[in-house]
This record gives sequence, C-alpha cells and structure tokens, in this order.
Amino acid sequence: MAKNVLVFVEHLDGKLKKVSLEAVCQGQRVAEKIQATVTAVVIGTSETLNASLFKDLARYGADRVIAGKNPDLAESMPDALTNILCTCIADQAPALIIMGGTTRGREIASRLCTRMEAPLAMDCLDITLDGNDLVFTRPVYGGKVLSTLKFKQSPGIAVVRTGSIKLIENPKELNLTELDVEMGKTDLTFISKSVDTSKIDLTEADTVIAGGFGTGGKANALLEELANAFGGAVGASRGAVDEGWHPIAEQVGQTGKVVSPTLYVACGISGAIQHLAGMNSSRMVVAINKDPDAPIFSEADLGIVDNLFDILPILTDKIKTIKA
Ligand code: FAD
Repeated sequence: MAKNVLVFVEHLDGKLKKVSLEAVCQGQRVAEKIQATVTAVVIGTSETLNASLFKDLARYGADRVIAGKNPDLAESMPDALTNILCTCIADQAPALIIMGGTTRGREIASRLCTRMEAPLAMDCLDITLDGNDLVFTRPVYGGKVLSTLKFKQSPGIAVVRTGSIKLIENPKELNLTELDVEMGKTDLTFISKSVDTSKIDLTEADTVIAGGFGTGGKANALLEELANAFGGAVGASRGAVDEGWHPIAEQVGQTGKVVSPTLYVACGISGAIQHLAGMNSSRMVVAINKDPDAPIFSEADLGIVDNLFDILPILTDKIKTIKA
C-alpha cells in the first residue's frame, strides 16, 4: 500500500474548522517530503457531512476523503470518534496521524496515543525531514525555547498549533469514500451541546482582544465593541477568568486556549509567562497597560502606557472609521 498521512478533520455542524484545513495543509507538506498521499477522515451524520465540506478538503490537498457516518454521532463524543479513527488507522496504516490543536483534537490525540501506544507531539509549529526521520518542532518553557523531537516508532501523532501553518490551496480531484460506521456499546452518550455558533471561535479569530485583571471586570462591553469592530473575538487572562468576569472558554494561556491571531491586543494584562504561553505566536501584539514596567511590553510590538478605559473607546472609534 502507498504511504499515506492521515488527517483527522473537525467540523461544527458541517462547517470545517480552520485548524483542520491547516492540518490538511501540514499533512500535504509532509506527504510531499515522504512521497505519500493525504487521507482526510471526517466523521459526522449524513446531515452535517456535506458536498462543500468534502470539496474544501480536496481543494486544500486531501488526496482521499473518508466520511464516517452514523445518525447518532455528535462532534462531542470523543470515545466514539476515537473508536472510528482507530478502525480507519488500522485499515489505512498511515505513516503519520495529524490533527488540529483544538480541545477535541487534544482529547482524541491523547486517547489514540494510549490506545495505540503511539508517540505524540503536541502543539507542533512545524514538521520537517531530517534524512528519513520526521522532526517535530514545538515550544517549551512557555514558548521561550523551541524543542525538536523525532519519533522512535511509526505511526506517531502530531497535533498542530492553530494558526501555525499558512493555508495554501493545493487542489486535488475529490476521491470520496463514504462509510456507515458502527457505534460501540461503550461510547459515551451525547447529552447536549452548548456552543454559541454566532460567535467567532477564539482559536480561529484573526484578531483577539483580551482583557485581564486590570479591567476590574468593568471593560467587557469595551472589549466586545473593539473585537466586533475588527470582526474578532474576546479573550481573557486567568486573572480575569478566576474573578468570573469571563467564561473559562475565553481563557488564553498555558491552562487555557492557545491562539495565534494576526493581531492580539492585551488590555490590563501583566504578561505572566503562563499567559504568554498561549499567545506569543501571535503575529502582532499590542499591549495597553498603566505600568510601564509590565512584562507584557517585552512581548509587545506596540505598547500603550495608559489607562485601558481611555484607550479602548478611541481605538474602537478609529477602527470603525477606517472600516466605514
Ligand atoms: P495581573 O498580573 O494582576 O495584571 C493586571 C495588569 O493590569 C497589571 O499589569 C496592571 O498594571 C494592569 N492595569 C491595572 N489597571 C489598569 C488600567 N486601568 N489600564 C491599563 N492597565 C491596567 N494565566 C493566564 O492568563 N492563562 C493561563 O492559562 C494561566 N495558567 C496558569 C497555570 C499555572 C499552573 C499557574 C501557576 C498560573 C497560571 N496563570 C495563567 C496565572 C498567571 O500566572 C497570572 O497570575 C495571570 O496571568 C495574571 O493575570 P493578569 O495579567 O490579568 O493580572
């Protein structure tokens, strides 16, 4: 059988996650290096898995798309998804398994790693080739150092960091295999889903406006307004989340989400290493802080030493004027 790279693709109600397309692009880059093909595996119901989703996967470089369907499947069933993926992996015998660094991707990668006793590289920024070995680059010590690692056995699993790979189209003819998949008796039952699909996903937003403890919990509307003006999303430090000013889903950092937007605006955030770990691969960082010695300024491309309550409305007005 020809070598292949298997990419697990996530979607929300039939809308592809950007990070999954990034994973397909990364898979395509690896496949070129090792003379392999890319197999994208997407799992859902007949209602959610649609023709435009399949076409997009082929457009970004999937040589083959496997659509696993079951009427009882939901995106939030990690055990069921892992079981189905294990069957695909046994059938396809891939050289490498790749998925996006979402909560679901991490959940499934760690399950696969245990089930298959396979090596796992979390939070990969790049995958290169050294001789015949794949080399995985990932940040350690809160992003202060980049480490490289190689797997001693194959297949290994690589979880790619959101926003770390440029989306490049690499159109292929759609080669689709649709499978009716079984649900195991031990698969968890899906109870309910509470995802606000009207909001832009924090990990996929091009602009993130993040509020910290310095907001005193009184700047949510200001943060939201600036985020809306940019068409971006609101994030938060743990300092602000612990106070209950933001939901945990908005936390950025070591124990929160990892984001890599084009623009990250840190408002009233001191810049603790645990926060930086979640946002230091942003393309441009703007920090607004009253304290000129705040560590966030050493991470910022642009620093504003001032009161965030004065600055945020000015910024929002400016962006609205530019965009009008
Ligand atoms: P602070 O450090 O209190 O900073 C508030 C800032 O606001 C100050 O710099 C102040 O000068 C400024 N300020 C105050 N008023 C104004 C104003 N009006 N205008 C402008 N600036 C103002 N933290 C995370 O963020 N994410 C994580 O995932 C995370 N994980 C952690 C995991 C572990 C194991 C540990 C131990 C800690 C973790 N932390 C995390 C916590 C982290 O160490 C910091 O405590 C936290 O990031 C601080 O949040 P903050 O910057 O909002 O608050």
